[in-house]
Amino acid sequence: MKIVNIVEKTINFGSSISNAYISFKQMTGSIVAIVTDVVRNGKPIIGYGFNSIGRYAPTSILRDRMIPRLLNAKPEEILNEDSSNIDPFKVYKLLTSNEKPGGHGDRAHAVGAIDMAVWDVVSKIEGLPLWKLLADRYNDGKYDDKVYTYAAGGYYYPNNNIEMLKDEMKSYLDRGFTDVKMKIGGAPLKEDLKRLEAVISVVGDASRVAVDANGRFNMEQALEYAKALSKYNIKWYEEPVDPLEFRLYAIVTENYSGPIATGENLFSLQDMRNLIRYAGLRPDRDYIQMDCPLSYGLVEYMKVLKMLDNHGWSARRCIPHGGHQMCLNIAAGLQLGGNECYPDVFKPFGGFADNIPVENGYVKLPDSPGIGFEQKQDLYSIMKTLV
Ligand code: MG
Repeated sequence: MKIVNIVEKTINFGSSISNAYISFKQMTGSIVAIVTDVVRNGKPIIGYGFNSIGRYAPTSILRDRMIPRLLNAKPEEILNEDSSNIDPFKVYKLLTSNEKPGGHGDRAHAVGAIDMAVWDVVSKIEGLPLWKLLADRYNDGKYDDKVYTYAAGGYYYPNNNIEMLKDEMKSYLDRGFTDVKMKIGGAPLKEDLKRLEAVISVVGDASRVAVDANGRFNMEQALEYAKALSKYNIKWYEEPVDPLEFRLYAIVTENYSGPIATGENLFSLQDMRNLIRYAGLRPDRDYIQMDCPLSYGLVEYMKVLKMLDNHGWSARRCIPHGGHQMCLNIAAGLQLGGNECYPDVFKPFGGFADNIPVENGYVKLPDSPGIGFEQKQDLYSIMKTLV
């Protein structure tokens, strides 16, 4: 087989929402298509990928470095033994060569976007949904036939309108979710607690409500919120402080017995290992949210899962950020703890297959080959325009 072409396009998310740290008005992302010469049902196999959401499009890194590396590679540098398919591990090695260690910024998203498209190709050529391919190759054939998910939203409304927040949460429950997540840290503590209590009143159980500070707090604020949140028994307290301030995480966990969640802004195995070593996180209750297309892709993510296992962490503690189908496939095929979902924001990347509803907090996966983009029309209609 041969890669015939690779195309990148920058997408504008243009959302008016904001969290405690950033506005999403200027938010962009890269979508990528890998066109192959392998033909199925009279059409060439094309793999699609993107660099998740919440960061910006790594356009020039893709166009100037990563795509040329792949297009100029010798077949033995990127293909499997009988040259029938792409080898994602070889592609990872190629894309991360001639790159200095450390400083894992936007290039991790560029590699992650291509990695996603590569896995889409690989599973389409094998004629399998990605979750099944992952289960067969890397998980002794075991998989979950449904994946836990929760509705992430709860952003700040104009004038902190609590009725709108409650309506939003109620709509998630109406759509089959049992658990929700809301933003904190964008208003004074007193107001945030009012918002939290309003959401709990809708959901009916604090243990089904998570809060996310997006890394905004300093130590004093993080501890002040920790003390206030301790009274509620919430699902988790996400990114209380800057994601790389591991000592601060350790101080928060010394002072907060409930679950902490973090990892969506750590983009490498090395950062994750330091998190596990030094941030005081507890494998019996805390959650790891690393998002594979932001973080050099699934090849790197599998290394992280191995590292976690070596440190006594189950893959069930991982509930990736991003709310997209790539991490949903990984959650099913490698048996993670679940996957985020954005039912209303970051369209069309948020949400899963069109014909598979969330039921009682769980979602099933399509049986079609690949990641399943073809089963999500709003997203696929954009991806199709690449080629
Ligand atoms: Mg978050």
